[in-house]
Amino acid sequence: NSIKLEDLVQLGKIGSGNSGTVIKALYVPESKIIAKKVIPVENNNSLVVNQLVRELTIMKSVHSHGNIVSFYGAYYSQSTGNEIIILMEYMNCGSLDKILSVYKRFYERRMIRADDIWFNELVISKISFAVLSGLSYLYEKYKIIHRDIKPSNVLINSKGQVKICDFGVSKKLINSIADTFVGTSTYMSPERIQGNVYSTKGDVWSLGLMIIELVTAEFPLGGHNDTPNGILDLLQRIVNEPSPSLPTGGDYCFSVEMIDFVNRCCVKNERERSSINELLCHDFISVHKKQGKEFRHWCKKVKVNLKEDKQIRREENERAKLEK
Ligand code: ADP
Ligand code: MG
Repeated sequence: NSIKLEDLVQLGKIGSGNSGTVIKALYVPESKIIAKKVIPVENNNSLVVNQLVRELTIMKSVHSHGNIVSFYGAYYSQSTGNEIIILMEYMNCGSLDKILSVYKRFYERRMIRADDIWFNELVISKISFAVLSGLSYLYEKYKIIHRDIKPSNVLINSKGQVKICDFGVSKKLINSIADTFVGTSTYMSPERIQGNVYSTKGDVWSLGLMIIELVTAEFPLGGHNDTPNGILDLLQRIVNEPSPSLPTGGDYCFSVEMIDFVNRCCVKNERERSSINELLCHDFISVHKKQGKEFRHWCKKVKVNLKEDKQIRREENERAKLEK
């Protein structure tokens, strides 16, 4: 019982990234909100594209885990140019990068105490546990390596669930999507940049960088006035500079557990880096195990804050228009 594209009503754009655009849509027969990802493909060879869609459809059998975004189907559409369409579960608090930017704006408007609802250690621990659990399931059960762990691929909903999406099932799709280096930051591990064998530990590296970014609100390799000079500079920094770590001193005060957890993720030598299963047993995960209720409360608050931010931005836009 797969969803027919004709049964969808588009409700608005959620966001767009390197690969395409994500749209919120209503699946009319079930009155259910879903997310529709549209990826334009250059390739006019419908054989190749159909093969791609078949590969993506494999994902349908994969998803039935609490930390992986459910997949509803993949399609090839030529109605508005060549595009691949992926239907998936809608996560109503969005991705971590979106939540982070909302909090940055709140902070700039002085609407919150910074320590109030920011990504605190409890939240980071729960997110880490969820990401590691999803990664472990993908690998143990299907030998799938995610390859693209970053804040925009970790999604949250107001029920307090954290799920990962956009994993690299199809290398062909990844290659056919123009340039993966469009962004200003890359979460790729040193061994991957150097073209060495790529294991699940690459995702562990990415998780470490992501945590540093969430708690400092800045990408770890080149924030402040130290912006990398283009992608090549960034890549050479990842390979040649010392491992990134959580900042110390100043306003920052992290627990020894969290510092150690991040240090174990951000080891440049892949062999010495902790594995997913080792990290799942880390103290930083276990000390927060019992705080499910607090985390659900945080997620609900995120939802409220997203709404408020949207409203404020709408008003700001209207004011700006009037002034013109
Ligand atoms: P990227 O991950 O590189 O930002 P994507 O095209 O994968 O680009 O996603 C664009 C944005 O859409 C994401 O940043 C995220 O905020 C949002 N998004 C993606 N998938 C979903 C989903 N299933 N539910 C809610 N929001 C989503
Ligand atoms: Mg994504």
